[in-house]
Amino acid sequence: MAKVQDLYGLMVFDEHTMQERLPSATYKQLMRTIKDGAPLDLEVANVVAHAMKEWAIEMGATHYTHWFQPLSGITSEKHDSFIDPIDDGHAIMSFSGKELIQGEPDASSFPSGGLRATFEARGYTAWDPTSFAFIKDEVLCIPTAFCSYNGEALDKKTPLLRSMRAVDEQANRVLALFGEPHQRVVTTVGAEQEYFLISEDDYKRRLDLVLTGRTLFGYSPCKGQELEEHYFGAIRPTVNNFMKELDEELWKLGVPAKTKHNEVAPCQHELAPLFANANRAIDQNLLTMEEMRLLASHYNLVCLEHEKPFEHINGSGKHNNWSISANGKNLLEPGENPMSNLRFLVFLAGVIQAVDDYQELLRMSAASAGNDHRLGANEAPPAIVSMFLGDELGRVVDALIEGRDYTASERTEMDLGVAELPNFLQDNTDRNRTSPFAFTGNKFEFRMPGAEQNLSDANMILNTAMAKSLKEFADELEGFSEEEFRATALEYVRRTLRDHQRIIFNGDGYSDEWPKEAERRGLANHRTTADALPCFVSEKSIRLFEEFAVLDEVEVRSRYEVKLEKYNKTMNIEIRTMKRLVRRDYLPAINDFAAEIARHITEVRAVLPDADLINQESKLQALIDGAAEINRQLGKLHELHYASLEIEDQQERANMNAHQIVPVMDALRDAVDAMEIIVEREKWPVPTYNEILFYA
Ligand code: ADP
Ligand code: MG
Repeated sequence: MAKVQDLYGLMVFDEHTMQERLPSATYKQLMRTIKDGAPLDLEVANVVAHAMKEWAIEMGATHYTHWFQPLSGITSEKHDSFIDPIDDGHAIMSFSGKELIQGEPDASSFPSGGLRATFEARGYTAWDPTSFAFIKDEVLCIPTAFCSYNGEALDKKTPLLRSMRAVDEQANRVLALFGEPHQRVVTTVGAEQEYFLISEDDYKRRLDLVLTGRTLFGYSPCKGQELEEHYFGAIRPTVNNFMKELDEELWKLGVPAKTKHNEVAPCQHELAPLFANANRAIDQNLLTMEEMRLLASHYNLVCLEHEKPFEHINGSGKHNNWSISANGKNLLEPGENPMSNLRFLVFLAGVIQAVDDYQELLRMSAASAGNDHRLGANEAPPAIVSMFLGDELGRVVDALIEGRDYTASERTEMDLGVAELPNFLQDNTDRNRTSPFAFTGNKFEFRMPGAEQNLSDANMILNTAMAKSLKEFADELEGFSEEEFRATALEYVRRTLRDHQRIIFNGDGYSDEWPKEAERRGLANHRTTADALPCFVSEKSIRLFEEFAVLDEVEVRSRYEVKLEKYNKTMNIEIRTMKRLVRRDYLPAINDFAAEIARHITEVRAVLPDADLINQESKLQALIDGAAEINRQLGKLHELHYASLEIEDQQERANMNAHQIVPVMDALRDAVDAMEIIVEREKWPVPTYNEILFYA
């Protein structure tokens, strides 16, 4: 492998490359756009486009694409070549500023939630200069926003950028009160990506995995994750090679892949990058997911990014580590003595207020058919949003709420009792793995999002809610003199913490008591996607997004519709796959096996009329009963499925899916799984969990 320093960012048209390749006046103007949001004019764009093209061709690119994130969440690209034929029969390679800035893909086949009737198919992509262009598979990819002819956002990136601008504006008002005006404020994100790797051969033999991304059937493996040997365990050689290549490819793309390790479940792994500004971090996460899927195939592996590929073992999340920084300084860094760090307390109170006030929206941001199997299922955080602050910060907040003084506790030096090992300072925040929104030293970790999701929604909501908290603070405090400011601000923090303390919960989120306690506190508990989505179109939600010009009402409604539709379509695919597999694979296998045993019994009886065949007879009975139960559940599912397809209203259909159909799918699955453990191994039509999860 080449030296990492030489590889890193090789395929990215980053600041360094820009400085090297652009005339200095152009470079400066572009930096003003990137760093201060100044508008970009066509002259500059032309120069940038030319330099970008020259660089891309030198790096082997032949095509370019406007790379964007439609509402379906995954990235889209349509490749155009640089080739421009000229009259003498030759061709030149061209790329204009206009082509860089704006594209016009046919928008008709992307989900828009009714925003754009199909006959009005035009949509525009617009260059986002704050996220660098890069080369992937000989294609120059230009990160872009995607909007309709009328300027409504048709993508995930545009509202995210708008929400970042809102935080920037409001945080600057607050910082100005602290005598620190005119800063570049961004929210930062570090997305920890979990995933499974399984063998391609097994994958191909599981139609449920191929069509739905998860196993719809499968008895729990004899060995699960109970020995906890996989977490941080030695990495399989093949997987290790995969991870090495992945790191290398990501580094070339300027993705700061940093940590890789095995996760709790067998075959489960994680990759964490160094954090970046939210917009870039999300682009990088999407690239990471894409590279994972692609590179796995080099090792006869398949990368599963679904939230819950396997029942009975952990699913995959995507922890959204989040903070706010001003000119590179982390505003959620408590420092040595958080109690006297007023600026920190103001921002902390702002986050607490934001999460409490908009807990339902945050929950909604993580809602999807896939994630429904994870949230509240005793492994991932519950579907109730609450915050964990840790001991030290928890005590600070308690003291503030109660109006007491507080002196920082000395950090305890840990003595490991072995002279050779260095003593180290105990971290002030111990870990709470069950909290959906945990303070982890100098950032918050939102753990609800699922592995497959685009983090734009979660961050758009977090940012906008935060902008709202900061705005309220600034509105109230701007009138005060400098002398009055500190005392008034501290009083404001106290009041905010008091008003929102119900959201703070340091206990065990998996316990049975917590949902009851949460209900007493008035916290929302939306168990399924169908329950979680409606709050998106509530008046409170629409008012929030409109107040900060992040989404207007039409955009909110269209997004809600897209989410609903996606949920219902996913359910429809899963139900159809289930029915097909039961009818064509599982029932025939069970019936065949039963017939074989029946034949066996008859044959033995012919020779030995009094033979004790209790073993075969009881097995035959179990198979017959099992098949009958499967048939009963299949019939129920079939009826409900058809009834659901009659329902025009997508929310009502989603309700039916979540509350009536899912329980029958579970029952059907259980009935099939019960047969898996008695049908002869050779006769079972698909590889089982034991085989898939414990490959050599
Ligand atoms: P752990 O999950 O073990 O606490 P780390 O603390 O190293 O792991 O960080 C997890 C993720 O959080 C990494 O992606 C890291 O880059 C990211 N992170 C660290 N600081 C910040 C920050 N200020 N803003 C956003 N993400 C951050
Ligand atoms: Mg973490």
